[in-house]
Amino acid sequence: MLKTMSIKNAYLLSVLDGLKKKSAHEPEFLQAVEEVLESLEPVVEADPRYERQNIIGRIVEPERVVMFRVPWVDDSGKVQVNRGYRVQFNSAIGPYKGGLRFHPTVNLSVIKFLGFEQIFKNSLTTLPMGGGKGGSDFDPKGKSDGEVMRFCQSFMTELQRHIGPDTDVPAGDIGVGAREIGFLFGQYKKIRDEFTGVLTGKGLSYGGSLARTEATGFGLCYFADAQLRDNGQSFQGKRVVVSGSGNVAIYANQKCAQLGGKVVAMSDSNGYIVDENGIDYQVIKEIKEVKRARIKTYLDYVPSAKYVEGCSGIWTVPCDIALPCATQNEIDEASAKALIANGCMGVFEGANMPSTPGAIAAYQAAGILFAPAKASNAGGVATSGLEMSQNSERLSWTFEEVDAKLKGIMEGIYAACAAAAEKYGMKGNIQAGANIAGFLKVADAMLWQGI
Ligand code: NDP
Repeated sequence: MLKTMSIKNAYLLSVLDGLKKKSAHEPEFLQAVEEVLESLEPVVEADPRYERQNIIGRIVEPERVVMFRVPWVDDSGKVQVNRGYRVQFNSAIGPYKGGLRFHPTVNLSVIKFLGFEQIFKNSLTTLPMGGGKGGSDFDPKGKSDGEVMRFCQSFMTELQRHIGPDTDVPAGDIGVGAREIGFLFGQYKKIRDEFTGVLTGKGLSYGGSLARTEATGFGLCYFADAQLRDNGQSFQGKRVVVSGSGNVAIYANQKCAQLGGKVVAMSDSNGYIVDENGIDYQVIKEIKEVKRARIKTYLDYVPSAKYVEGCSGIWTVPCDIALPCATQNEIDEASAKALIANGCMGVFEGANMPSTPGAIAAYQAAGILFAPAKASNAGGVATSGLEMSQNSERLSWTFEEVDAKLKGIMEGIYAACAAAAEKYGMKGNIQAGANIAGFLKVADAMLWQGI
């Protein structure tokens, strides 16, 4: 059950109440909306056009939702069926843009929450991208390459009618990495007979961008570094806990170490490892990207490390900085309090909505630094935007060029969030600043474009 938050504005309350009735079975979506609307109270009160034009009522309703059957044949010849989704949430500032998630927990609520968050995140990047998200309850874990390929081909056979380089440009997310993007792109090209930048996260040999793989994890650390420096701190000498061991977690570990931090714990959905000497990201990369094995196998490489079954216990490992990079709602109030009790001074979100409302309230009560996902993990989609630019130009930029642009974008996002928070009387509240700065650009475009 959602906690009742502190919204008092009658217009915002009426939109939220209506949505709670219509979307009663979509708890993740309602959680994401409530978190944004709470921050928008001073903005809506300062400008009557948002209520008059019902911008809030419109922004919480996706422009289009596509749900479809995905039949595929497994290695034993049996026909399997999964459900596919694409939520095209908002195209006010550009083509829909957002990843595809393949995971058994995927449902409409999860995809709508991710698509809603994506609107504001994409706006914060300053690039012309609208918000969208998609995926399936298919689980690539334990499937052969042939099964993954047949699933991706079937998924794209339907999805291709709804996307295009100027319409909707999907990318990866949980369970969708280089292998899946390759199969999806191959099928799009075969059916549509065109070679365009319709997906991002592509391989380098067929239109991908250097530094896209690293972008979300690197970008998270660039953002955290900017926020730390603004508060007279740095990564230097800090103990860091990173949850997850996928794309975001691996490259957050790499950049964090480069900035002087030491990652002492990482996890997967089965359990977590602790290595007091610092976890080498290259070992995790080998285990997860090459062997596709469980994190437990880290002990084969570093026998002095410790493995603990169950992933939520990772937040009891003492640290200065926490980088949640696995999934939504992975830090609840009790975990947040455990982090704070152990001296954690900052939580910077790599995953989407990893902190529950109770956890965020605990960070605020303790006065620790907090970076919300829609700002701090925007580096992935920002670099996807750079991949789209390179595809349109038919040019490839160097790793250093892309990385420098990424760093500039993340520092710019931090500055924009800090400035918006200060302007609306919430200095230092980067969560509110992110919601407000992300909203203003999209709302302005919606006002210009009429209903
Ligand atoms: P990956 O699939 O590469 O890795 C996900 C990691 O999180 C794995 O270690 C996985 O463990 C773990 N995990 C997934 N689901 C759960 C769960 N229910 N409970 C515990 N652990 C879980 O995904 P990404 O690294 O790409 O994505 C991680 C997060 O970052 C997601 O929230 C995603 O939306 C967000 N994100 C990703 C971006 C990107 O560019 N990739 C961009 C912006 C945000 P296991 O292997 O055991 O499942």
